[in-house]
Amino acid sequence: MEFIDLKKQYEILKQEIDANIQAVLDDGHYIMGAAVSELEKELADYIGVKHCITCANGTDALSLALMAWDIKSGDAVFVPSFTFYATAEVVSLIGATPIFIDSDPRTFNIDVIHLRSMIENVIKEGKLTPRAIIPVDLFGQPAEYEEIMKIAKDYNLLVLEDGAQGFGGSINGKKACGFGDISTTSFFPAKPLGCYGDGGAVFTDSDVYYEKLVSLRVHGKGSYKYDNVRVGLNSRLDTLQAAILLPKLHAFNDYELNSRNEIADIYNHELNDIVITPLVKENMQSSWAQYTILLNDEQERNELQQYLKSKGIPSMIYYPKPLHMQSVYKDHIVYSEDLKNAENLSRKCLSLPMHPYLEREQIITVCNEIKLYLQKEMKL
Ligand SMILES: *Cc1c(COP(=O)(O)O)cnc(C)c1O
Repeated sequence: MEFIDLKKQYEILKQEIDANIQAVLDDGHYIMGAAVSELEKELADYIGVKHCITCANGTDALSLALMAWDIKSGDAVFVPSFTFYATAEVVSLIGATPIFIDSDPRTFNIDVIHLRSMIENVIKEGKLTPRAIIPVDLFGQPAEYEEIMKIAKDYNLLVLEDGAQGFGGSINGKKACGFGDISTTSFFPAKPLGCYGDGGAVFTDSDVYYEKLVSLRVHGKGSYKYDNVRVGLNSRLDTLQAAILLPKLHAFNDYELNSRNEIADIYNHELNDIVITPLVKENMQSSWAQYTILLNDEQERNELQQYLKSKGIPSMIYYPKPLHMQSVYKDHIVYSEDLKNAENLSRKCLSLPMHPYLEREQIITVCNEIKLYLQKEMKL
């Protein structure tokens, strides 16, 4: 059994993907070829935003947004501690200060109450200028944007939606990657919509941000590449990757997203009584970048993972260490002792195999082994 079965997907989409790759090779426009603008248009339509700017990866997508807003040293940017490092790394890279926020223990997403209190703290201290919030759509479920947008308005902050895992999720039918002033996603192969290498995209409704992002993506160009008006990046999506993503986006929209949700439903049904299953809020839909359960403690989690491994079932720990505990931030002032949920989640979380081509039989096998193991443990 594969944790994420990319080969299975390729088998199914092989004809289209191969033909698209061949078309790029025949055409010879390897950088910014026709497939790139075609993909950008389709992605913008899918999300329901005005502009999509593809780029080299999901990390650059975040950096481009922060650069477009001129976020810099002395600025505070609020990020969840329980996420992939890139969310905070881009803040540090640009010279600003990430302020770590705790997570909701059931949705894994940024805790909006803690967020508000930390913004108040930073204002009270008066050392940093609060500029932006980067909510993460962790494991595929959108963050609580209704409340986050209220908070952003109250404190005049920008919202950068890190939708690297959120592509395909929605709130009341409105698609993720369209909630932020700028939103981003990643096409790393293991994400809900992945290419065959690195890739990413930035989304916005703002014409002003769009103009800047287009410039920043190509060395801060002005009217053309050799007219340089700002410091930017070299961060384009390869034409080949765009050509690969087009049929994958169609499959994602046509059936893969549904399939992911059906798989999650089976997991929920089988595991509800035995472990803590992931909670998706009533008005939300997840794209199930990960299906993550919670065990009672670290030991039980680690032993279950070993047991599953011995049965040929892969599982992953996303994430074993919250960002405020990473050694890169050891000298960082953590403004609060209050990141207990993030720490707890990192000790108890276990992500199970999840991809649209997982068969019912396989899911049942995973669930039965988990039940067997936990029942045996209870008897001891
Ligand atoms: C994967 C990921 C990123 C970075 O995307 P890359 O394409 O790997 O650079 C950023 N944030 C989150 C939450 C991610 O999961």
